[in-house]
Amino acid sequence: MTVRRVKGTEPEARNAQLLVLLTDRRQELLSQIRRSLAERQEEFQSRDAPGSHGWGAAPEGSLTLVVVQQQEQLLTQIDAAIGRHKAGTYGRCVSCHEEIALARLRALPFAQRCAGCQEEWEEQRERPTS
Ligand SMILES: [Zn+2]
Repeated sequence: MTVRRVKGTEPEARNAQLLVLLTDRRQELLSQIRRSLAERQEEFQSRDAPGSHGWGAAPEGSLTLVVVQQQEQLLTQIDAAIGRHKAGTYGRCVSCHEEIALARLRALPFAQRCAGCQEEWEEQRERPTS
C-alpha cells in the first residue's frame, strides 16, 4: 500500500473539497444572518421604548440593514455557486476554462475566473474600449 499522490488532487477529491467549502461557507453565512437579524430586532425594540427617538436618523440601524443585505447577497452567490457545482461547472474559469486554484476558491468561494483572467477582466472594465 504505497499509494502516494505527488502532484495535485484528483478531480473527485477536489470536487468533494469544493462542496465542503461551499456548504461550510453557506452554513457560516446563515448563522451570521441570523445573528444580524437578531441584533436588528434588539435595536428595534430598544428604539420602540418610550422616550426614544423612533426612526429618526439611526445610522447604527441602517448599518445593520446594509450588513444583512450584503450577507444575503453573498448567500445568493454561494447558492449560485452550489448550483454550478451540481452542474459540474464550478471551480472552472469562465474565461479560459482552466481550473481555478483551490486557495483562490477558499478565499473567494464564488470566484468565476482564475486570478489571471480576473485581473485582465478588471483592467478591461476600468479601461473602457475606445
Ligand atoms: Zn482564466
